[in-house]
Amino acid sequence: MSFNISGKITLLRRLFQSLTLIVFILIYYTSHKQSFILGTFYSLKIGPIHIVDPYVYITYIIRNFANIDFYIWSFIGFMIPLFVGVLMGRVFCSWICPYNFFYECIVSFIEKIKKQRKFLFFSTSDKTRIVYLLVIIIIGTIFPVLTYLLILPGLFSLLMHQIILYFFTIVIFGVLWILFIFTFDYFWKKRIWCKCLCPTGVILSLIRFKRGLRIIKMENGLCKGCALCSFECPLGLTPHKGDHYAECYNCGKCVDICKSLRKGNQPLKFKFL
Ligand code: SF4
Ligand code: SF4
Repeated sequence: MSFNISGKITLLRRLFQSLTLIVFILIYYTSHKQSFILGTFYSLKIGPIHIVDPYVYITYIIRNFANIDFYIWSFIGFMIPLFVGVLMGRVFCSWICPYNFFYECIVSFIEKIKKQRKFLFFSTSDKTRIVYLLVIIIIGTIFPVLTYLLILPGLFSLLMHQIILYFFTIVIFGVLWILFIFTFDYFWKKRIWCKCLCPTGVILSLIRFKRGLRIIKMENGLCKGCALCSFECPLGLTPHKGDHYAECYNCGKCVDICKSLRKGNQPLKFKFL
């Protein structure tokens, strides 16, 4: 089954990203009333279920192996993001993660002012990402604070709560840390953080299921090889070659640009199953 989301996917994505941000600010207020929904992107409690960031959960489980307060709801909560990742790919990254939203907004502002774009196409193998993940799991298990610094969506949501609470020392440190990552991410290699270094992004890229939601290039000769989709790709992938599967986060920018150029006959489409 293949389908096109008509209209501007990017516009839809921006609305979704903004909505998520608002929801996470509102969650601060529900958290203080011990309501049904509370928490951050590190761990979000909905009723009895804790939806936990996979990297935070794995390092926590290893650290507390001998004394584990393991119970069924936390395991279900750990499996939910993985299950969504298997079915929908890295949609969390492009449609929800506040760091990605922040990065995209700042970079589009910079590009508007400079009137030029930075392109750099690069990719990493599954093997490299598995080795990196194992190393980062060991480091995060030994130094728990690092776990929380590396999960930027969690740090963003935590900072929003700290701003409301006027804990400005934590806010200043958190903002400086995010700006450090951003600088590294923007000036060194395009999106290296989200493609290769963020533990959540790496886990989601490794569990992708070949039959989940993804972008496909139709083999029907409609592609004119203009490569504009690849220049548009925020991750510096090359969808016009059809070889971007694992790292792609299903943002749909390539489909948007292809659709606007080729009208009803675009060679790039979202495919599910
Ligand atoms: S890779 Fe990490 S920081 Fe980047 S979008 Fe995904 S969760 Fe957010
Ligand atoms: S290949 Fe397309 S959907 Fe995937 S990240 Fe690049 S622009 Fe987004």
